[in-house]
Amino acid sequence: MTVLILGGTAEARDLAAALVGAGRDVVSSLAGRVRDPTLPVGGLRFGGFGGVAGLANYLLTSQVSAFVDATHPFAVQISSNAASAAQRTGIPLLRLERPGWADHPRASSWTWVPDVEAARAAGEGSARPFLTIGRQSLRTFLPWADRPVTARVVDRPDFILPTYWTLLTSRGPYSYPQEHRILIDHRIDLLITKDSGGGHTAAKLAAAADLHVDVVIIARPVRPEGSVVATVAEAKAWCETQLHAPGRA
Ligand code: NAP
Repeated sequence: MTVLILGGTAEARDLAAALVGAGRDVVSSLAGRVRDPTLPVGGLRFGGFGGVAGLANYLLTSQVSAFVDATHPFAVQISSNAASAAQRTGIPLLRLERPGWADHPRASSWTWVPDVEAARAAGEGSARPFLTIGRQSLRTFLPWADRPVTARVVDRPDFILPTYWTLLTSRGPYSYPQEHRILIDHRIDLLITKDSGGGHTAAKLAAAADLHVDVVIIARPVRPEGSVVATVAEAKAWCETQLHAPGRA
């Protein structure tokens, strides 16, 4: 009786640790995009499943009793695939998603936009923007070759960035002093980010507020319907319930 965790987030790693600690059989699945990922404990698999059919096949052949979609709030495709595969196989699915920043004390002062293209349009007047939107989304900003963009990513993108840009490669969590320093050192006038939520990358928002740096924030995409919890403890309790459900003993 295996629990499959679709991972790539800190919450996914924490859930794997909690379940393995309780003696459960867990496999965490990673897309395999990050060069040197922080690995969860327990079983691992890497790479895509091959769409809905591939995921459904994996669930059945690997005797998965329940699975948790703990992927990043902006990883839309894999979540859609998970919902479809759950429907197709009848294997219970839970979404574990950290709360977004809509309740942040400064949220009403930010410019909320629906997608990356709208973020670029909203930031057009910025002279020295700071982009923390993931490496793939940087493509949308390539027309900003005329200005000193600072972009922060985990791994370098596989396309060429304008020479005028500064690329920072690092992995969170980030502290308030670190974020404050970046905004000052690069004389940032606009932060463009996604509503990733959680505490690991929230310090930049407080630093931006204190330094009067405007914020453009990309709202979370719409998610498939289904059961959602916000904490690892709730997700672990749900997994335990599924593993003890009649017919799964
Ligand atoms: P995506 O667009 O939703 O997924 C694209 C394809 O990648 C999926 O159809 C699937 O391929 C494969 N895939 C994605 N996550 C997978 C996983 N956990 N295990 C196995 N295959 C996976 O995903 P994305 O936005 O590129 O994100 C990729 C991974 O990075 C996710 O696991 C996510 O948690 C993590 N991440 C994403 C972001 C972000 O901003 N998007 C930020 C931090 C971490 P098949 O169809 O072949 O199965």
